[in-house]
Amino acid sequence: MEIQKLTKWFDTDGLPLIISGPCSAESEEQVLSTAKELSKYKEIKVFRSGIWKPRTRPNYFEGVGEPGLKWLKEVKEQYGFKTTVEVAKPHHVELCLDHDVDILWLGARTVVNPFSVQEITDVLRGVDIPVMVKNPVNPDLKLWLGAIERVNKVGINRIIAVHRGFYSLSKSLFRNPPMWEIPIELKRLVPGLPVISDPSHICGNRNMLYQISQKALDLEMDGLMIESHIDPISALTDSEQQITPYELGKIFDKLVIRRETTTNASHDKLQEMREKIDRLDEEMLQTLARRLEIVKEIGDFKKQKNLTILQIKRWSYVFEDRLEKGVELGIERDFLNKMLEILHDESIRIQTDIMNED
Ligand code: PEP
Ligand code: MN
Repeated sequence: MEIQKLTKWFDTDGLPLIISGPCSAESEEQVLSTAKELSKYKEIKVFRSGIWKPRTRPNYFEGVGEPGLKWLKEVKEQYGFKTTVEVAKPHHVELCLDHDVDILWLGARTVVNPFSVQEITDVLRGVDIPVMVKNPVNPDLKLWLGAIERVNKVGINRIIAVHRGFYSLSKSLFRNPPMWEIPIELKRLVPGLPVISDPSHICGNRNMLYQISQKALDLEMDGLMIESHIDPISALTDSEQQITPYELGKIFDKLVIRRETTTNASHDKLQEMREKIDRLDEEMLQTLARRLEIVKEIGDFKKQKNLTILQIKRWSYVFEDRLEKGVELGIERDFLNKMLEILHDESIRIQTDIMNED
């Protein structure tokens, strides 16, 4: 893996990193009143806002541009939030740096194009700023990884991947179906990379936000980015999926944060129990391998002596005997039944192969 020296750079004391703010900055009043209401919720650490909006079709609102960056500076000063803005061109990066934006993000439409990602990362070389990388529009893990690698390659170690769902041809309840296996695989491939979810762009509506947020946390995503607007109905972009700060507060009330572990002591205890499981599994696999070895030897023997593979009487004895012993040890009968069947099927398969070898 190419990705190096990632640092977990935000400290939320084990709690998810929560980012909120409008899809787009529309006016000073809208930005500041949204920030004021959001500042009532201590969970929110970062204020987001689109300043330049990538639109699927022309002649729609394309963002307020540079003046919006001044409003974000006021948000920082008045409410203490960190701020984050989407950058889609090198020039956007320069303007954000000039206006003290704290975190940059690459949007889904930018990440699909390695040329664009490269152009942006080229101007980031030597700049010490955190960057968030949204997943590309299409479900292509390599493209996502590639963008993260490009960001990392210019020396940026403070990276967050943002999971915002993927375009799908099939009809779906979601605007961008989450395809959870993709961010989970990303986490597996890049240990130490924080991955947060963006339920707003996954859902595309207001009513599934809680459900998807909870699911993201239960799958150990490291945070959430949820769009919030002081007056969602009149929002110039993504009106259907934005919620008021008050509605966001209601979601926070319902969300259950299941920490991986709660305290150091319980962490040690869990670790100890997991190590026991690891040792037992090791022994179990060794025993299983030895058992299968003997099954092979018996297969060879049966072949030499022209005996049948399946000897019902012997199998009935084994089955009943192991079932009885297992139940005595406190193992569920149903589970034992299934396990013995699987073991027997595998023995028959091995011995049939041996019989059919020339
Ligand atoms: C956004 O966050 O408002 C946005 C445009 O998102 P995405 O790039 O995920 O579509
Ligand atoms: Mn949006």
